[in-house]
Amino acid sequence: QFERIGFIGLGNMGSRMCNNLIKAGYNIAVHDINHDVMTMFSEKGILTKESPVEVAKASDVVITMLPSSSHVLDVYTGPNGLLHGGDGLRPWLFIDSSTIDPQTSRKISVAISDCMLKGKEDDWETPSMLDAPVSGGVLAAETGSLTFMVGGLEKAYAAAKPLFLSMGKNTIYCGGAGTGSTAKICNNLAMAVSMLGVSEAYALGQSLGIAASTLTKIFNSSSARCWSSDSYNPVPGVMDGVPASRNYDGGFASKLMAKDLNLAAASAKEVGLKFPLTSVAEEIFTELNDAGNGTKDFSCVFRHYYSGKDE
Ligand code: NAD
Repeated sequence: QFERIGFIGLGNMGSRMCNNLIKAGYNIAVHDINHDVMTMFSEKGILTKESPVEVAKASDVVITMLPSSSHVLDVYTGPNGLLHGGDGLRPWLFIDSSTIDPQTSRKISVAISDCMLKGKEDDWETPSMLDAPVSGGVLAAETGSLTFMVGGLEKAYAAAKPLFLSMGKNTIYCGGAGTGSTAKICNNLAMAVSMLGVSEAYALGQSLGIAASTLTKIFNSSSARCWSSDSYNPVPGVMDGVPASRNYDGGFASKLMAKDLNLAAASAKEVGLKFPLTSVAEEIFTELNDAGNGTKDFSCVFRHYYSGKDE
């Protein structure tokens, strides 16, 4: 069923996910516009292809892990894209694990189901698409412990599960096309807002004279307890092993959080309801990014409360 897997987008996440597929024994063909990374893979004996369409011609399943919606659209529907030529595609399944907006995921899913599988002209069958973004950063990609949130046909999800479990620990089926992307942006929206809520409460508490370590004991045994207070605390020195205790290095980059909040804000606009916390969170993380903190972990938003003030 999975004679060959194509993998496109060998960046921080994709290269590690691809390595786990290689370790699991899959036969892989890769493509990236970065030639250095292509050379790295070809030196390991992995088949490299010069364009997405070349990957499609050589693969039964194609996985993409790209920066944003425009790159994903380009790789699927651009010139020399995966769907170039339309009918007669070899891959029966496309999996996009990039974090993008649900509208683009649905658009690509429709474009794919408009194509025909190679050799199936008599018995019209369409290839399938799963939007399958991940939770967990570079470390989880390296250790194969990502969580996949998956939208698309349930039978395609069931067929793809062994692939997900070669790159991750958990997979959750979310529903039809676009629901995986929806789950991802909703998760990160909730994470951003709870991190902001906890940071704001610490900043107020400290300003009123209570130590962050004391406030943490209160939060974690009271109703304010959440992941941002008990597992990923944003105040330096309160918890070992978290980015706040190493000058906010490593972890989940603020620029990626700003990107995900941008996607949430765009989707919020589409549904026509008011989402005030989405707008505020987007604004604060964009500011943080613009102030040069883009590569710092997103919990550095705690410092935002002290910016412009002598500590
Ligand atoms: P990255 O920028 O490190 O890697 C992206 C790769 O895609 C690069 O190697 C780039 O050369 C390649 N690329 C770009 N355009 C291309 C094209 N047209 N054709 C072929 N290759 C192309 O990004 P990343 O950190 O690996 O993130 C990938 C996706 O995963 C993003 O959507 C991101 O939001 C999401 N994500 C990242 C993290 C994280 O911690 N880094 C965590 C969860 C989700």
